[in-house]
Amino acid sequence: MSPLDPATSGQTSQETEIGSVFVSNYPPYSAWSKDHLRQLQSSLSRAPKLDRGLGLYVHIPFCRKRCKFCYFKVYTGKNSQEVRTYLDALLREVELYQEQPAFRDRPLKFVYFGGGTPSYLSASQLNDLIDGLRSMTDWRKLEEFSFECEPGTLTEAKVKTLKEVGVTRLSLGVENFDDEILSHNGRAHVSQEIYRVLPWIKAAEFELFNLDLIAGMAGETEEKWQRTIHETLAADPDSVTIYQMELPFNTIYSSSIREAGEHEQFANWQTKRRWHQWAIEQLGKAGYVRSSAYTMVKAHKARPFVYRDALWDGADMMGTGVASFSHVQGVHYQNISNWGEYLDHLDQGLLPLQRAFVTDEDDQFRRQFILKLKLGEVDMQPFVDRFGQNPAEQFSEELAQYEEQGLLVVKKDRIKLTMDGLLRVDSLLPAFYDEAYRGKRYT
Ligand code: SF4
Repeated sequence: MSPLDPATSGQTSQETEIGSVFVSNYPPYSAWSKDHLRQLQSSLSRAPKLDRGLGLYVHIPFCRKRCKFCYFKVYTGKNSQEVRTYLDALLREVELYQEQPAFRDRPLKFVYFGGGTPSYLSASQLNDLIDGLRSMTDWRKLEEFSFECEPGTLTEAKVKTLKEVGVTRLSLGVENFDDEILSHNGRAHVSQEIYRVLPWIKAAEFELFNLDLIAGMAGETEEKWQRTIHETLAADPDSVTIYQMELPFNTIYSSSIREAGEHEQFANWQTKRRWHQWAIEQLGKAGYVRSSAYTMVKAHKARPFVYRDALWDGADMMGTGVASFSHVQGVHYQNISNWGEYLDHLDQGLLPLQRAFVTDEDDQFRRQFILKLKLGEVDMQPFVDRFGQNPAEQFSEELAQYEEQGLLVVKKDRIKLTMDGLLRVDSLLPAFYDEAYRGKRYT
């Protein structure tokens, strides 16, 4: 199969099959290894020559229930003592990072609490954790503090706490407004909980309130999806992020298909893209403009999404927590993904490092281009300035073929995806991978 066929990223037919991926980094995670950890240590022990910004990612791996489509590292049965132990370990990890010249005394540009479910923590746990983080890191130049929430875990007091501790971007994982779909896909929340939290979030006046949806969850129908979009518009968030249902290998759905041959009713890619497009059009009519292939934002709230933009530009990030991802001076790496080993390392005063990948300039050039294409529009000049290479020339053959297929338009100094290209952007990206990674497993 040609690397230019969108099929190579897992979309081997129009059906939603196991193995599809959401591209979040490059080179693919399957290429990261223990062998690169020594070079990672040397990058950590060097102060940066060029500061592209620094962020802090805090992974809260607890959820009330595991969604059947989830591929993140999450735990559903930890008790309050285990949660406390984990939060102490997070603080210990940040303390250890402050001893590393690569991160020491650098001001934070962004903080991102992801998971799992960060809003699973109680208000007092959040206050203690954030006080601890603030005491060890410099938040004076912070541009954004993002926080992910699951509707059923929020209380009015917790929403107020989030505002008080400085959260600027609150993201609510709604995914769908239909109770049958939510329950069937293993979500912990019900629609009533979404409606209950909306007034609290509005009243708190976060700088930006984002609502997440997934097009094509099991059981989705035309009519239900339309209702979900109508309810989304009525909820009036500042931005809406829409993912298309994927089936990576490590989900409950994928295991039950592999092991028991069970087959859920998933919409095919064509249908999901149609639903996604319809949603984009409705949001456009309501005054939202594009922020990326997935996100629409109210025109007057359009601003950089600092976490996303900084990471895609090659900023450094201290990723804390079990299995979390980081970047320092051209080295990508991941923490240990086993609960006990993660805690043991920190107990012994060791950073819990699992695997890494040391990039060269070609990797960085490709990575930046691949990720920026997900914005829907890419300027060539910043690549020429930074890498001395123009992606429009470097990838001329691949781009010409995509242009012929109506997926993008190449102008002299700009590449713009068409609607068709935007709706399948992840499947277009492997064409820009180095030969060595094409057709290989992503994770
Ligand atoms: S709430 Fe999010 S992180 Fe938790 S199980 Fe569901 S998809 Fe995974």
